[in-house]
Amino acid sequence: MRESASVASANINKTMSDCIFCKIIAKQIPSEFIYEDDLCVAFKDINPKAKYHFLIVPKAHIPAVSDIEESNSALMGHLIFVAKKLGLEKNLAHYKLQFNVGRGAGQEVFHIHLHLMSDAT
Ligand code: AMP
Ligand code: ZN
Repeated sequence: MRESASVASANINKTMSDCIFCKIIAKQIPSEFIYEDDLCVAFKDINPKAKYHFLIVPKAHIPAVSDIEESNSALMGHLIFVAKKLGLEKNLAHYKLQFNVGRGAGQEVFHIHLHLMSDAT
């Protein structure tokens, strides 16, 4: 793991036993990863809201963007960089990136995830 994106921070649990994304990351729930590295995975959203709808998810359990600390900055930037790589790989001319933060904003899974959504042809 790269030191600059260290996730050894007090706000993070490595995994949470009752978290669906931790279970996917631990391969306890079947899911097809379209990307994986030391820090994050990406997989297709089970209920896509666009032609292409991927979730980019850090391996560390952080509930929401409202929980991140400055030490998580590199990790959060990495999620965006991975989104860019997926956009290139899938040849997407345009796409939206979205974090839902809090129930009022539509967050349902409390393990940070970056939505990549595109209707590009
Ligand atoms: P949010 O509303 O921002 O918390 O987004 C959660 C997203 O996770 C939704 O778009 C769901 O469709 C998606 N989701 C929930 N469970 C799964 C799963 N098992 N595999 C893939 N995507 C999932
Ligand atoms: Zn989790």
